[in-house]
Amino acid sequence: MNPLDLVRPDLAGFVPYASARRSGAPAPVRLDANEAPWAPCGDTLDLNRYPAPQPPALLAALAQLYGVRDDQLFVGRGSDEAIDLLVRAFCRAGIDNIVALAPGFGMYRIAARIQGAGCREVTLQGEDGFALSVARILAQVDTGTRLVFLCSPNNPTGTSYHDLVEQLLQALDGRALLVVDEAYIEFSDTASAAAMLDRYPHLVVLRTLSKAHALAGARVGSLMASPELVGLIAAIAPPYPLPAPCVEAALRVLEAQSLLVTVQRIAAIRQQRDHWQAQLARCRAVRKVWPSQGNFLLLRLVDAKAAYRSLLDAGIIVRDVSAQPGLDGCLRVTIGSPDENARVLDVLVAMAEAVPA
Ligand SMILES: *Cc1c(COP(=O)(O)O)cnc(C)c1O
Repeated sequence: MNPLDLVRPDLAGFVPYASARRSGAPAPVRLDANEAPWAPCGDTLDLNRYPAPQPPALLAALAQLYGVRDDQLFVGRGSDEAIDLLVRAFCRAGIDNIVALAPGFGMYRIAARIQGAGCREVTLQGEDGFALSVARILAQVDTGTRLVFLCSPNNPTGTSYHDLVEQLLQALDGRALLVVDEAYIEFSDTASAAAMLDRYPHLVVLRTLSKAHALAGARVGSLMASPELVGLIAAIAPPYPLPAPCVEAALRVLEAQSLLVTVQRIAAIRQQRDHWQAQLARCRAVRKVWPSQGNFLLLRLVDAKAAYRSLLDAGIIVRDVSAQPGLDGCLRVTIGSPDENARVLDVLVAMAEAVPA
């Protein structure tokens, strides 16, 4: 079955906005986009021109990094934009739904909510290490389901579910798209699901430069899928999603020397993560630390509110995830620099010592 058959029927034959850069042939005198003929004041960059909708050099560099062809990749403003575009393309308001993990990344539910689509949750339990099965996911898939979001490694639990991807793809064939969000895969032990794109046209893989490549401020995320699906997403995307300075910044982090540094930094974060997992597990203020495949640790504390406040008093902000289902008493702590990580432990140890055991 062609997964494009799952696209909102009212978008069939959708004709995208014919922006100047999308339709215009390159010419030395460009009078097709109502741009200014001179560079902007106070700026050394030639930002008077609209950027390419999908800059070819950036597409090529990302496709090479992720091991796909250029025509299998759409680049947009972070994976957040890709999530929004997917939900908009596939879910009819008031009729269709998505399936996502809980606890999980909040943006899937938010994108669904804004689109007026439903969100069905597969609940995970910390007691069994947030274990998941294909059957438990399928139990939430109904005839209205268009997209199944599998965040792996999962935020905020740190659990990898890549071992389920192929089985899930087989089960979802003809029913829904599987969107594997790999925002943290660089920190994990598993290979990307992108290698399966040629075999499964209903697979979508999301990657980002925001985490491992230290480029969150530039907002550069990739959606990888079949060329047909990539074409559809590009058609419904805003005409010029990527600001030129962000494209420049992305091209610099994708240079060979930068990638070598990034590989070393990822190794350092992984080493720090495993070190602090063991250290924090010994702290009396901490009930549990789950193993993590991401660049963060999920902790259950004896008193999460007090720990959050003590950390804040010490100038350290962490993520309070205790409102998520099954995560009462939990905080998510990003792995920072060695010094920053040491300060987190110091605060929690001091807290535990201040309270009589
Ligand atoms: C951080 C994060 C993203 C967002 O990435 P951007 O590319 O910065 O939009 C996507 N998915 C998950 C699970 C994340 O934690």
